[in-house]
Amino acid sequence: MPNKTILCPDKIHSVELIAPKTYRIDEAGIANCYLLIGDKKALLIDSGNGAGNLLETVQALTDLPVELVLTHRHCDHAGGRNNFKEYGFHKNDNHLVYRIESSKLASKSLCKGTGRDFVYTKKPFKAKKRLFKDTDIFELGGRIVRLMNVPGHTKGSVVFLDESTHLMFTGDDVNYWLWLQLPGCTSVKEWLPGAKKILSMMDEYKAYCGHNDGYISKEMVEELIKRGEEILAGKKGTPIGHGVLSYPDNNFQDHSVIWYKKVQ
Ligand SMILES: [Zn+2]
Repeated sequence: MPNKTILCPDKIHSVELIAPKTYRIDEAGIANCYLLIGDKKALLIDSGNGAGNLLETVQALTDLPVELVLTHRHCDHAGGRNNFKEYGFHKNDNHLVYRIESSKLASKSLCKGTGRDFVYTKKPFKAKKRLFKDTDIFELGGRIVRLMNVPGHTKGSVVFLDESTHLMFTGDDVNYWLWLQLPGCTSVKEWLPGAKKILSMMDEYKAYCGHNDGYISKEMVEELIKRGEEILAGKKGTPIGHGVLSYPDNNFQDHSVIWYKKVQ
């Protein structure tokens, strides 16, 4: 497959080859999933919000058994879980607040909220949850993926590290639009050490996040960290046109929205 985006038959998902046997699956600009294919099985990182036919999209890319894992338990990453019999997420996301935020109702409202022609589609299974431990390793056959719990966006947010391609998948912990204002989100103070840990690994690992075009550069993460530190120092963010926008929301004390929009 050429290294370009191809629209799938459901007209919702598009697929981009980002490394050998590694695909970014974009659910109509709502969120990204990533499919990592080994010799024996494949790992699907996140499942989108649940529009279109994710299962068909994945099966067009691999015949191997697929294990679904989540970077965190929010509806735009967990909404497609019932395409599979089981799904895994970190034990620290096993709380009521995240159950609500990853519910079918949340996915349906998000579909509606886009104002576009999306519907939450019917799924074949009712996926059973499996909780990760910090030591979990995913052996795909000739390819090993590790996880690292980085409390950030949610308490159980994890980053997946792929040894073979030196890619890491950061979910929403560092992305273009960092949200820390939802119930259950960590504070900026709790988020910062994890973001710095991710930054320290970015010479070795290229980072792909849960939204937009996926790739997130070291400079962007540095900028996010800078914004976070400014918020903690009491500085109020200022929207700057279509460039970088940082906006701490005082209604949430130190829980803030940091909107980081790539300068075009
Ligand atoms: Zn999220």
